[in-house]
Amino acid sequence: MAYDYDLFVIGAGSGGVRASRIAAGHGARVGICEDYRVGGTCVIRGCVPKKLLVYGSKFAHEFEDAAAYGWTLAAPGHSWPILRDNVAKEVDRLNGVYIRLLEGAGVKLHMGRGRLMDRHTIDVGGTTITADKLLVATGGHPVVPDIPGRQFAITSNEAFHLPALPKRIAIVGGGYIAVEFAGIFHGLGSEVAIVLRRDRVLRGFDEECRAAVHDALKASGITMRTETQIARIEATGGKAPFIVHTAQGGSFETDLVMYATGRTANTAGIGLEKVGVQLDKAGAIAVDEWSKTTAPNIWAVGDVTDRINLTPVAIMEGHCFADTEFGKRPRKPDHRDVPSAVFCQPELANVGLTEEEARLRLGELRVFTTAFRPMKYTLSGRQQRTFMKLIVEAATDRVVGVHMVGDDAAELIQGLAVAIKAGATKAQFDATVGIHPTAGEEFVTMRTARPEPAPSRQAAE
Ligand code: NDP
Repeated sequence: MAYDYDLFVIGAGSGGVRASRIAAGHGARVGICEDYRVGGTCVIRGCVPKKLLVYGSKFAHEFEDAAAYGWTLAAPGHSWPILRDNVAKEVDRLNGVYIRLLEGAGVKLHMGRGRLMDRHTIDVGGTTITADKLLVATGGHPVVPDIPGRQFAITSNEAFHLPALPKRIAIVGGGYIAVEFAGIFHGLGSEVAIVLRRDRVLRGFDEECRAAVHDALKASGITMRTETQIARIEATGGKAPFIVHTAQGGSFETDLVMYATGRTANTAGIGLEKVGVQLDKAGAIAVDEWSKTTAPNIWAVGDVTDRINLTPVAIMEGHCFADTEFGKRPRKPDHRDVPSAVFCQPELANVGLTEEEARLRLGELRVFTTAFRPMKYTLSGRQQRTFMKLIVEAATDRVVGVHMVGDDAAELIQGLAVAIKAGATKAQFDATVGIHPTAGEEFVTMRTARPEPAPSRQAAE
């Protein structure tokens, strides 16, 4: 049977756009649908606008540090509407770029929500479209726990469009989004409280890095309400300020509550159950190592599959799928040694294993750490320190984990990720000449391993 398309993609975010463009480049007839804005979470309400807000908020520190370098400034003022609207304009521009990229690649864009009617038929806003192969790349959305008053809370989706900056904000959660937005609001002048159910932020990251970030956030003036669960949010007079009641029996007042308690896959309402696409326990689409679902002609990439929920990973998965299915170049996405960064202030970035993972998986380790005040802050006196860590497998001398908390950590770790991917040894790090004076040179000059914990302590950990 002749189908309208060789490939139809549901969802024009990072993964879907990459897969469709590459498939079209291999000669496939490709259609794609999107029910919100082309570009997806990353471009429209994630990484890109978030990073611009991070840049905007960091000027606060720059102004403070400038005085020690001889600059006199009038008391700096900030206009949230200017920043918000400029970020929105840049998002609009990128949205246009993405649409033109699709057009340029010969991919036909259908605006509207895609619903699977059967394994080869999709309904997009009343139009029936047929395709040989299908790719689901519908991403995810924030989840807010079902507590009384949740309707008063915003998520990161709304944070980009606030009419005004809150004087006080409570951010619930201790993950990527919570700590990144805490830094943004704090830098822009809001009083910020992070409300988290554990004793420190960023579960899953290297423990020492978690501690470094947690302590730095606290030292910067962010209130850390640890081991706290929210029971309900009460609106005084139906609007702000809000009284937040905790499950521990306390309460506090705030002008805005933002939830950043994780995201979940967008799998509802697209007819997956009709076509035999199975979900995993968390409700994400179950896929094999080729991103293939349990339906023979349907694949899925990106956050909807809940593997590693990062834009470059979705792009890799989409590209591999297109090369494999349409380019006669079978390639599986490689989820090992994926570097990542959290754009909190100071930044955290890493590649490879945490010390805790390395201790579980490997034998003896050599761990190198350093902590220092960055040169830039010697004059200004800013009490912010940089922390770096190398984890080496003793038996092979291979560097299996690189971690950093400090300015420009993401930029530095990106380069080192190449070395880790290439299997670099500590001897090769040692043989590399540093660039002086930089923070990065510390990664090639750490010579003395930290004493290893006693075996009994290791066993207990
Ligand atoms: P995360 O999964 O990173 O963190 C969720 C946080 O919310 C955790 O601290 C978790 O606590 C807490 N939490 C979960 N449920 C509840 C609850 N019911 N009550 C109280 N706290 C709760 O999610 P985010 O929303 O921060 O980010 C979603 C994903 O987006 C990330 O996993 C990441 O993949 C991606 N992302 C990546 C960025 C980057 O690369 N820089 C930036 C932003 C997002 P606990 O630890 O106890 O489970």
